[in-house]
Amino acid sequence: MTEKFPFHVIPKLGALGIAGGTIKGYGCPGLSITTSAITIAEVARVDASCSTFILVHSSLAMLTIALCGSEEQKQKYLPSLAKFSTVACWALTEPDYGSDASSLQTTATKVEGGWILKGQKRWIGNSTFADLLVIFARNTTTDQINGYIVKKDAPGLTVTKIENKIGLRIVQNGDIVMKSVFVPDEDRLPGVNSFQDTNKVLAVSRVMVAWQPIGISMGVYDMCHRYLKERKQFGAPLAAFQINQQKLVHMLGNVQAMVLVGWRICKLYEKGTMTPGHASLAKSWISLKARETVAIGRELLGGNGILSDFLVAKAMGDLEPIYTYEGTYDINSLVTGREITGLASFKPAVLSKRSRL
Ligand SMILES: Cc1cc2nc3c(=O)[nH]c(=O)nc-3n(C[C@H](O)[C@H](O)[C@H](O)COP(=O)(O)OP(=O)(O)OC[C@H]3O[C@@H](n4cnc5c(N)ncnc54)[C@H](O)[C@@H]3O)c2cc1C
Repeated sequence: MTEKFPFHVIPKLGALGIAGGTIKGYGCPGLSITTSAITIAEVARVDASCSTFILVHSSLAMLTIALCGSEEQKQKYLPSLAKFSTVACWALTEPDYGSDASSLQTTATKVEGGWILKGQKRWIGNSTFADLLVIFARNTTTDQINGYIVKKDAPGLTVTKIENKIGLRIVQNGDIVMKSVFVPDEDRLPGVNSFQDTNKVLAVSRVMVAWQPIGISMGVYDMCHRYLKERKQFGAPLAAFQINQQKLVHMLGNVQAMVLVGWRICKLYEKGTMTPGHASLAKSWISLKARETVAIGRELLGGNGILSDFLVAKAMGDLEPIYTYEGTYDINSLVTGREITGLASFKPAVLSKRSRL
């Protein structure tokens, strides 16, 4: 399987009418968060890379414009993004600031009529071909994080594809370098004035990301269920052996539990009572359960479970970046841990005041 993006699929994804998800107006579907999450899961059930392509474009880039953009920016950019006539990416992570993204070092300096952006971004999905790049940078006057819409042909902007990923292989992740990229005032997102403002977007996108491992696990379950009925050993279909049935039931139980956690987090969001700890717990726990589920699926396929052609091995690879992005399992655990204990433990003891023990 190659790492090429299937551009011919974009109009078909546009026809699904799901880009923009929960955004109301501006040509977007205005779905409930539950419906939007289920659409992501159903796409991931077939191909996780496609769901990531949609998620980055819709739940990160479009949502940032919808929640933090001016009225003019929303009218100008969202309608074509909703149809996938244009594609967007969302750039927060930097080579030296992944989990510690709030310390990012890309700078934005005010100049006449606009801003000069300097710095680097890493891992940015869709960035090699995106028409619009939503970029976060540190305002050199306020030292706070601001957001900008950068056009793909902006002078000083270069994007290099990251090769040889073991998962989400058709998602085009890029290293972005900005050497004095000029962004006009009209393309600064007025609603991003600190890192906290990105959390409004991450609250929704983390829920969406939590549904990707659910979709992947459903797809692996589908595949294994079919395979066990078709393949025979010892004169009987693999599905006839008790141990295999137990494994299938284990997978189904996991899927049901994941769906319920995903459902609950959507309902909390709809009620307006979802906290960052809730979203982080859902994302981390679901991705952990999905890892267990696809590993069982892989062993059920025997040797064919090693071949990406049978999709289960591919799903295992696809799950790994999802386990890591949108906050790794560990970082999301720490967000929940902080909420339930009232104590933040992101920084190691060596950076804290000397222990008296
Ligand atoms: C395929 C893919 C797509 C991505 N797409 C995007 C995108 O579109 N836009 C974007 O902005 N970013 C994107 N990312 C970046 C992603 O969000 C980061 O990879 C992620 O936040 C982790 O950062 P890191 O890779 O630098 O790992 P690091 O931060 O270096 O972490 C390495 C390990 O250390 C652990 N760790 C770090 N800090 C702590 C701590 N305080 N306590 C305990 N453990 C800790 C982590 O959990 C992890 O296990 C993508 C990443 C991948 C792999």
